[in-house]
Amino acid sequence: MKRILLSEKIKKAPWFLTIEPYLRKQDHPIASHSEARHPRIVPLLVIDYGNLAARFKHMRDVGKYLLGSVRGMWKSAYSIRQNPYKGKKNIDPQTLFEVESFAKSLGVAEIGYSIVNPRYIFRDFRILFPNAMVFTIEMNRDKIREAPSLSSYIEIWRTYYEVGVIVNKVADFLRQRGYNAHAGPAVGGDVNYVPVAIDTGLGISGKNGLLITRQNGPRVRLAAVYTDIENLPFSQENQHQWVREYCESCNICVQKCPADAIFPVTKVHPDGGPTYIDHTKCAMPFSNDNGCTLCIKYCPFGNVSYDKLKTKFETKTSISAN
Ligand code: SF4
Ligand code: SF4
Repeated sequence: MKRILLSEKIKKAPWFLTIEPYLRKQDHPIASHSEARHPRIVPLLVIDYGNLAARFKHMRDVGKYLLGSVRGMWKSAYSIRQNPYKGKKNIDPQTLFEVESFAKSLGVAEIGYSIVNPRYIFRDFRILFPNAMVFTIEMNRDKIREAPSLSSYIEIWRTYYEVGVIVNKVADFLRQRGYNAHAGPAVGGDVNYVPVAIDTGLGISGKNGLLITRQNGPRVRLAAVYTDIENLPFSQENQHQWVREYCESCNICVQKCPADAIFPVTKVHPDGGPTYIDHTKCAMPFSNDNGCTLCIKYCPFGNVSYDKLKTKFETKTSISAN
């Protein structure tokens, strides 16, 4: 008999954790592209392919972050009712500076801006406003260096939770100043954050599928706030394209992955975009006793300065070109 896979059957969070029940008739949410991808619901992948018993074992250590993340999803959904609706569409440099300073005071490392491509909104999901402020927060380097360990596992869930709290606070901050906002937390987000973050110029995806950033390499957690502010400093370019070439001569994550889950040659998804990882293979190490995270731990960009790696790479490529 064919096994029923929950990750294939269920593609959405429960309705009360989405914006749908809180929309008003004056709202005009932006729908996903008809060929957009479905989200990966990690707990369902763990049920289907991972180690569910190990997940329960560590509930005592990470349960508060899991519950807090679900609370963050709920708040991001119901708080859209607090939008001014006829919100201001322009932001002056001083107010934008205050928003960014507030976000940084909460622990944000980097901020970028883009107009969200509907292809990156998950299939049959909707976001309330077309523009994204994308935020990264750092995962603690020492804890990730200990991976796989309980402390690296806790760090993964702490950052999921923290960035969810931050985007809800930033959304409230904007509303209090007369702007519309919809917080997109890391757990249960409505969009694929990596390509949206690439459009902001914050980084580029490495072979491990993670966003490689200048400040913290792949040791980041991503989330967003959607808004209809029209004059945000949207990125016009991405200066990190060279990292893709770097990955071709690195492949450390491919070699270190205990499940052979990272494709040595990135695959092309039916939608034309990239597929970096076989998540059905990753689910077991990821959900084992102390998690995995080796593709973050060993990536040079999480351990060595971005500029140093770039200089070394440029020197090497110019020598081989001569
Ligand atoms: S988390 Fe572990 S198993 Fe999953 S892709 Fe990264 S290294 Fe591979
Ligand atoms: S470990 Fe190497 S190949 Fe993998 S993402 Fe990092 S730089 Fe790229």
